[in-house]
Amino acid sequence: MERYFDNAATTKICREASDAMIDALENYYGNPSSTHKVGRIAKEKLEECRLTVAKALSARPEEIVFTSCGTESDNTAIIMGAELNKRKGKHIISSSVEHDAVGKSLDELEKRGFTVTRLTPDQTGRIPVEAVLDALREDTALISLMLVNNETGAVTDIAEISKKVKAIDPGILIHTDAVQGFKKVPFDLKKCPIDMASLSGHKIHAVKGIGALYVRNGVKLKPLIVGGGQESGRRSGTESLPQIAAFAAACRVDPEIEKIAEIKEYLISEFSEKIPEITYIETDAPHILSISMPGYRSEVLMNFLEMKDIFVSKSSACKQGKRSRVLEQLGLKNEVIDGALRIGISRFNTIDDADALVSALIEARKLAHR
Ligand code: PLP
Repeated sequence: MERYFDNAATTKICREASDAMIDALENYYGNPSSTHKVGRIAKEKLEECRLTVAKALSARPEEIVFTSCGTESDNTAIIMGAELNKRKGKHIISSSVEHDAVGKSLDELEKRGFTVTRLTPDQTGRIPVEAVLDALREDTALISLMLVNNETGAVTDIAEISKKVKAIDPGILIHTDAVQGFKKVPFDLKKCPIDMASLSGHKIHAVKGIGALYVRNGVKLKPLIVGGGQESGRRSGTESLPQIAAFAAACRVDPEIEKIAEIKEYLISEFSEKIPEITYIETDAPHILSISMPGYRSEVLMNFLEMKDIFVSKSSACKQGKRSRVLEQLGLKNEVIDGALRIGISRFNTIDDADALVSALIEARKLAHR
């Protein structure tokens, strides 16, 4: 029986999303930009989906731009946000633990003459509010900080940061990469005065290849992708209505956070009782648990678990063999980093899956000690 614990890399599509996708493929195949009836029906469906995604964030529908993925949303927000606000200055504040979709966008901006302050996290993986305020400069034009870290599950208090920053300097644009945090931790744009937020469908049981960018009304972001002027001129390319419909359907489903958090807590208590040498990073996101069994390399454990049909990842699915930069930033010993496993929990997991994972790790330990 497959036990899938790699939900921070991607999630299994839920029934509601796949039904919505098939419905759109079969019944809303028109081009939303066509002015005839088939196109108009598709356009209506598109706007209905936009409203659903907007509601999930307490945003307005016109503030949602559909993109192809979280990476595109991050690239657009950061590169076009910095370009938009460069009259104010060319200083950007971000962190050293962002996803590469943000990190590489910042590298690109440095090549264009921007200066980036990359804040380092504290030992819990969080970027302290005070560190952001201390880094502010007259010429700060953009702040980009992730809502939830994809490797550790550390949560950034973006609501507090944005309120304080806007009180000091309302001209600074604030972006959050909410790809891992959306529908997992409280994120309500009414309480969080940010300008842009990136979302991705495949992290919430929708489908791969769909993302969204929230752009607060009044922020005149130029498009990164130009062409036919879709998405009110903010992102060209014919909208992929089946993927958008899947995304909207996934937004409507109860994320069952209590259940996910319970499984995380259960794993922590089982590990501390049965495999006390396991260390873990204590973070607030309910769905990510980064553990390490010192003396056991991640790849070896991953392969062992895979033989038992249990799927976890190393610190992040994208790192492919390199030591995690994020875990290094937390000051963890190499031995701990080299044994890191990321457990990504979803509402499709059960306590039985958790028991299977704990038993398999106990077995791995016994084999190694023979
Ligand atoms: N940002 C974070 C924090 C992520 O975890 C990911 C994906 O793992 C992305 C951005 C990129 O999202 P996508 O895979 O939709 O491009």
